[in-house]
Amino acid sequence: MWLQYQGGIRLGQAIGKSFFRLEITFFVALLVGVCTGCRRLGEAFLEHDGRVASPLAAFAIPVPAGRAGNWLAGDFHCHVRPPDGPREVRSDFDDTVTMARAGGLDFVVLVPHVRGKFYEDAANRKWVAEANRRLTARARSVSDIVVVPGVEYTDGDSGHIGVSFVDLADVLDAREPFFEAVVRQSGILNIHHPYALPMSLPFYRRGLPDMSWRPFTRGTKIPREIAFVNDRYSAIEVFNHSKSVVDRVVQGDRFIDIRRALAKADTEVVRRGHPIALIGGSDNHAFSLRATTYVFAETRDGPGIANAVRGAHTCAMGPDACTFQVRSSVDRRWRIVGDVVKTTTGDAGWIEARWRGDGTLVANGERIYRGRGPVRLRVTGDSYLRLETATSFSSHIAIRMMR
Ligand SMILES: [Zn+2]
Ligand SMILES: [Zn+2]
Repeated sequence: MWLQYQGGIRLGQAIGKSFFRLEITFFVALLVGVCTGCRRLGEAFLEHDGRVASPLAAFAIPVPAGRAGNWLAGDFHCHVRPPDGPREVRSDFDDTVTMARAGGLDFVVLVPHVRGKFYEDAANRKWVAEANRRLTARARSVSDIVVVPGVEYTDGDSGHIGVSFVDLADVLDAREPFFEAVVRQSGILNIHHPYALPMSLPFYRRGLPDMSWRPFTRGTKIPREIAFVNDRYSAIEVFNHSKSVVDRVVQGDRFIDIRRALAKADTEVVRRGHPIALIGGSDNHAFSLRATTYVFAETRDGPGIANAVRGAHTCAMGPDACTFQVRSSVDRRWRIVGDVVKTTTGDAGWIEARWRGDGTLVANGERIYRGRGPVRLRVTGDSYLRLETATSFSSHIAIRMMR
C-alpha cells in the first residue's frame, strides 16, 4: 500500500519499527476515510523545558533544548479609535489595552484604516505620520503588553494590507515608493483577509464588498505597488476572527476562508521559496479582541515579534499547531515551525515529525497523514510541511535536500 505524492515524500516509506504500523494505519485510513485507531508510534516526546508566557502557560508549548526564546500570544489586526473614526470603531486605546490584558495577550498590533494611495496627497501623509506618532507615544506608555502601531492600508480595488513594525513618518520621508520604503526599513507587510470575497447578508442589504487580496482571487490588472507587495509580504492572515464569525452565521462554515487561505499559502511558499508567516487577526472594531496568533520570539518586544514573523515562527487561531517540530537524519536537533531542515535522499535519509495530540500533516498542499505523531518519512525532494489541528494552523517547515 503506497500513498505517494509528487512533492518528494513517500508515505509507506516510513522506516524502522514504525514502518509496518504506519502502513496499516494508512490502509485503514483509506478504507474507512478516517484515521481511527492511529496509535502513537513512539515514546512521549515533547520536552517541557521551555518557559511559556501567559495565556500559553497552561498549554506549555515545548521549546527545543538549547533554543532561546518563548512562545507569545497576541493579535496582528486590531482597530483603535482614534485614529479610526468613531462611526467605525468603538474601542479606544485604553479599552484595547484592557481587553488585551483580560485576554492574556502578550502583544497587539494596532492597525487603524488608511485609504489606498493616501500617500499621494500631502495633507494625508502629514495626518498619517502624526497619527502614527501619537499612537507610538501611547504604545510606549504600556509596559506589560507589547503594543505595536501600524495601519491597515485599505484599497477597495486591490485588498487590505497590514503595515507595522516600522516608523511611518520615516517611511513617508523616504524618497521612494511607500511599500518599497516599508520593506527597506524592515517593516512587516501582512495580507489581511485574503479571501473576503463579496457576500450578501440576510440582515444587511448592502452586503459585504470584495475585500479579498486580488492578486490571489483575480490575478489580472494588478497595479505596480500591489504586485510589489505580493512579492514581498511577510505574512498572510489565514484566520480573521470577525470574518469567521460572519462565515459561520451566513454560510454555516467558519473555516471556509481559512481553507482557501491555507491552500493558497501552500503554493505561495513554493513560489516564494521559503516559509511565510501564517497568522491570525481579530479585526477587532469594538470589543472582540482575542489572541489569534502565536509567535516564537527570542525577545518579548517589538523587534523579537517582528523577527518571529520574518522567520515564520508562527501559528494561527489556536496554539496547538505550534507544537509541530521536525528533525532529520542529518540534522538531529528538533526544529520549530518556520525553520529549514536539511536531509538527504537514499536509504539513510529520513525526517521525523512530532506534535502534541491529533493533527493533520500537510506536505506541499496534500494531506499525507492524520492522527498522532511522531512519524518518520522518507523525503525525495524539497518540501514544505505544515500541521493542522481542529483549531490551529502552523506555518510551514521547509525540508531541503542536501546536494
Ligand atoms: Zn480589512
Ligand atoms: Zn481591519
